[in-house]
Amino acid sequence: MFDIHKIRSDFPILGTKIYGKPLVYADNAASTQKPQRVIDSITDLYSNHYANIHRGVHYLSQKSTALYESARETVKIFINASKVEEIVFVRGTTEGVNLVARSYLEPLLKPDDEILISEMEHHSNIIPWQLTAERTGAKLKIIPFLENGELDLSTLPDLLSPKVKLVAVTHMSNSLGTINDVGLIIERAHALGIPVLVDGAQSIAHMPIDVQELDCDFFVFSGHKIYGPTGIGALYAKEKHLLTMLPYQGGGDMILSVSFEKTEYNDIPYKFEAGTPNIEGTIGMATALNYVSDLGIESIDEYEQDLLAYATKQFSDIEGLKIIGTAPKKGSIISFILDGIHPHDVGTIMDMEGVAVRTGHHCTQPVMDHYNIPATTRVSLSFYNTVGEIDKITKAITKVKELMG
Ligand code: PMP
Repeated sequence: MFDIHKIRSDFPILGTKIYGKPLVYADNAASTQKPQRVIDSITDLYSNHYANIHRGVHYLSQKSTALYESARETVKIFINASKVEEIVFVRGTTEGVNLVARSYLEPLLKPDDEILISEMEHHSNIIPWQLTAERTGAKLKIIPFLENGELDLSTLPDLLSPKVKLVAVTHMSNSLGTINDVGLIIERAHALGIPVLVDGAQSIAHMPIDVQELDCDFFVFSGHKIYGPTGIGALYAKEKHLLTMLPYQGGGDMILSVSFEKTEYNDIPYKFEAGTPNIEGTIGMATALNYVSDLGIESIDEYEQDLLAYATKQFSDIEGLKIIGTAPKKGSIISFILDGIHPHDVGTIMDMEGVAVRTGHHCTQPVMDHYNIPATTRVSLSFYNTVGEIDKITKAITKVKELMG
């Protein structure tokens, strides 16, 4: 069902050697590697179809426009949005959150209104709301998490009140791996008429996403975390919200007509796509989404869950290693600390063994504060990782202990 050798051969970089050792790439939560199909789609655009989109009457402009708009259709299908008009191309998750903060939420907020986020958010899903709160006098409220890294949803009845104007929560934590019950949060928030933004930066590559079933108001993700290019992502927003929102940036393509007296904005989603967009990025991202769909996101999920279970067992057997984030529902991320050894030393020594992992706070400093630690080492796995590679990672950690312990 899952031909791992064939899959690995789709990713040219996986054949690389680091310090003479075969690369073990386990930094997938930071960014994923690209299959040849994605690389080829961008080369093909530049070689055969490239021109600026939307404004040209000539053949290449129309060809590029058709590819760009078909990428929007691919995103729509991938996350099961009901309309292409609900898909806005953005630079990535970060820009998507900033767009919603600025264009949707800020005009609605009054002093003492509240924005509810969680304690495990990535800085990208904290700071845009802090900026909005600073500008409006609104307050940031926090859903705490339990010692195992699970959100404490028993706090919701107290935290959700008519003062809350938006809930913004991550679907899957990039530092703990926790998969949050966003369906339940959405249900509870909607019961009070509160809209919900889901940060899908991590979940998008690991589980089926159906925005209609979730009934979220906004969903954001980045192309580079799902085997596509950097500098491109998508914001899904319910049509009813996009129709009332003000433009995020002004410029070409987001207008119907301009005069010095009055500018009329373009229809959605173009109203939110000012300037020449990342055309090649959208095409690369759509190719990546199709690649993932061809493998089957359910099969990916199942395979990665097996890897996670195996790695968790192997790592747990290492003396002095403590896993940070042990929620019952997790994606394929294992953060850990090693007794008496700084994560940066861990990462540096593992690198010498060819193993690429991330060390640091993972842009989730409040999570580090919760555990009173400065940083963790994070192993984040993809469908192209293997059980054999987990054994190499385990060996590399053992080597760290030998050298530093
Ligand atoms: N949210 C989460 C949960 C993430 O993991 C990341 C990326 N590490 C982001 C937001 C930000 O994504 P980007 O840098 O692609 O905008």
